[in-house]
Amino acid sequence: MEKIPMTTPLAELDGDEMTRILWKEIKEELLEPFVDLHTEYYDLGLPHREETGDQVTVDAANAIKKYGVGVKCATITPNAQRVEEYKLSQMWKSPNGTIRAILDGTVFRAPIMVEGISPVVKNWEKPITIARHAYGDVYKAAELRVTQPGTAELVFTSDSGEETRREIFRFTGPGVLQGQYNKDDSITSFARACFQYAVDTKQDLWFSTKDTISKQYDHTFKDIFAELYEKEYREKFEALGIQYFYTLIDDAVARVIRSRGGFIWACKNYDGDVMSDMVSTAFGSLAMMTSVLVSPDGCFEYEAAHGTVTRHYYKYLKGEETSTNSVATIFAWTGALGKRGELDGLPELSRFARLLEQATLDTIRAGVMTKDLAGLWEGAAPARAVNSLDFIRAVRAKLEELL
Ligand code: NAP
Ligand code: MG
Repeated sequence: MEKIPMTTPLAELDGDEMTRILWKEIKEELLEPFVDLHTEYYDLGLPHREETGDQVTVDAANAIKKYGVGVKCATITPNAQRVEEYKLSQMWKSPNGTIRAILDGTVFRAPIMVEGISPVVKNWEKPITIARHAYGDVYKAAELRVTQPGTAELVFTSDSGEETRREIFRFTGPGVLQGQYNKDDSITSFARACFQYAVDTKQDLWFSTKDTISKQYDHTFKDIFAELYEKEYREKFEALGIQYFYTLIDDAVARVIRSRGGFIWACKNYDGDVMSDMVSTAFGSLAMMTSVLVSPDGCFEYEAAHGTVTRHYYKYLKGEETSTNSVATIFAWTGALGKRGELDGLPELSRFARLLEQATLDTIRAGVMTKDLAGLWEGAAPARAVNSLDFIRAVRAKLEELL
């Protein structure tokens, strides 16, 4: 069989630990034998971030901007323990935070549903897609630990020298402080990405914040969504018979649990971080979820929503067998290759991506899966829990049949 050609490279962002191992296996078993893979490779593994003073992360984000499509492996976000483990010169920032700050945009996360694995919430019949604003708030905040009595103030100095001040709190003892921000144009592009995604996928859009408590900050989000809806999307939504629905975050949580699914839930940055893990776990597994960052200028970064699966990696290093689920990482590649095919007018490449997704799900339907799924399996075929590599090999066999 001749390999499927590519014209424009993908920005390829390699990562850490167990997912780095899976990354290599996926490329060798599922991609390189079939596709003439063109990527521009960036090694975001922690040792190389250290070597480059984290410049590689910035370069990788710029490559995604340049080529329009990137695919990213999970990476370690260093904490104090990692600084010691990897002998780091400093506690490098979260690569995802750095990339999102450069690209801006919205992360869409949707569960990968497969017959035989039913959501913990029995009434969820259709997927719930979380749309997470990927810019600002607590991820770009300035923080301060206060150690003595004093007054904390919020001060804004305009370029013309005008000062606006608000007292935050009068400290009489030690405590903590935080200052966050967001920008109208980032919130507007978040809103537009959500409305557009709802139109494209013909699903209702829910949006939630805490505007009753945060009367300036969260209220700005609510107002920007409402204005954009009236100005550009109400007619389109009504024509499609879909709804835009705003409610408070706590009310949204209760309604989501009672819902049947089949909608997009737009969340502020932190809410989206927390809720996407809740939703994906309730749908089955963190490893059964797609994740794509869509930037306002139309760039796409595909990734898995889970981390580097450290516990499995330590077993792997000891030579023990691992059963790490590679589905989300496979779907990061198929998302990126499919998008590349769409943008470059390469239907063969898009078709390959669809078939690889089908081969992955067919493998599970046939009862072959990793341990995390075997425990949840309710399908007809008896479940056979396999190790990390055998799962990928089983997908390859299915893929060869389909091709
Ligand atoms: P994690 O890597 O997502 O793993 C947490 C646990 O979830 C695992 O121990 C495992 O449970 C289960 N799990 C997650 N993915 C799985 C998979 N593909 N197959 C099977 N089981 C899976 O989260 P973490 O342990 O909190 O974080 C590890 C590292 O990842 C950290 O250094 C963190 O900074 C980083 N991280 C990166 C990203 C990213 O790059 N997008 C996101 C989150 C975390 P069992 O142990 O019970 O089998
Ligand atoms: Mg998270």
